[in-house]
Amino acid sequence: MSTCVVTGGAGFLGSHLCELLLERGHQVICVDNLETGSLQNIEHLRSAEFRFMDHDITEFVEIEGPVDFIYHLASPASPIDYQRLPLQTLKVGSYGTHHMLGVAKFTRARFLIASTSEVYGDPEIHPQPEDYWGNVNPIGPRGVYDEAKRYAEALTMAYHRQQGVDTCIARIFNTYGSRMRPHDGRAVPTFLRQALQDKPLTVFGEGSQTRSFCYVDDLVRGLIALAESDAHLPVNLGNSDEYTLLQLAEAVIEVSGARSEIVYEALPVDDPKVRQPDITKARELLGWEPQVELRDGLRKTIDESGVERLVGANS
Ligand code: NAD
Repeated sequence: MSTCVVTGGAGFLGSHLCELLLERGHQVICVDNLETGSLQNIEHLRSAEFRFMDHDITEFVEIEGPVDFIYHLASPASPIDYQRLPLQTLKVGSYGTHHMLGVAKFTRARFLIASTSEVYGDPEIHPQPEDYWGNVNPIGPRGVYDEAKRYAEALTMAYHRQQGVDTCIARIFNTYGSRMRPHDGRAVPTFLRQALQDKPLTVFGEGSQTRSFCYVDDLVRGLIALAESDAHLPVNLGNSDEYTLLQLAEAVIEVSGARSEIVYEALPVDDPKVRQPDITKARELLGWEPQVELRDGLRKTIDESGVERLVGANS
């Protein structure tokens, strides 16, 4: 049994990760300031093996006892959140990552940073392999998130190369599942919320931009496989099935049985035109690949969440 620290453990991905780590017999220390996460996400995890620390990781963090793994997930993650919290997003990527790498150095834990496909920006290469350096607008509205993650990756490699910290970098592509917030602005929860109320589904632009959607159970399995490997360079984790946003909207309508129509809204600034991971490296290094197909994942999301939670308040 090992002791795992999960920052951002009360969030969407973090809570699923805590759950799987506990299921596999590990001890979990969840560190979260509840900025975008909630106690509701982790209330079912009450056990002697699970500890919650209400802490903002941009402040100094002290963690008692031996730690084997640090999964550093804390960060605003949806465009609505990071554009509401631009300085906090930059601070969590910089100071927050420094603090957690410091804990990893002190405890000799293996450190995983939850990076993102957004480090590739609006890519000129398709699908995106890990050795692509990206095409990011540093001063646009998404820059606070993209550059915070790029800085966090640079910091992680510097701690590894100069300080000998055992680190790895997960470049996570769009992931969905239960416990996403209905109003966080991301495509899957937005479409589900709209469809479950028979309201129009709002597609940006012509809906021809593509994304690849990974079901959360597949993703957290990949995070643990990466942490338990000896990889140090970035590894893409995501589902390589690619859909246009219009196809996603149609799949949500089909799965939910909604009578919704599709309406079109203005494209956000710097919205990437394509997004699809090349997961050859994850397959080869980790023996990992996603197993859940989009429509099955959408059904599971509805079943696990329940309509009430997907629709949310103020709808
Ligand atoms: P989320 O908003 O649900 O979770 C983030 C968690 O971090 C929340 O619980 C929040 O309260 C916590 N947090 C934020 N700032 C903090 C701070 N200063 N101190 C302590 N806790 C703090 O988002 P998510 O989708 O679960 O994303 C988790 C991580 O995965 C993020 O780092 C995100 O960038 C990365 N990621 C997610 C996706 C995705 O599709 N969900 C894709 C790429 C990368």
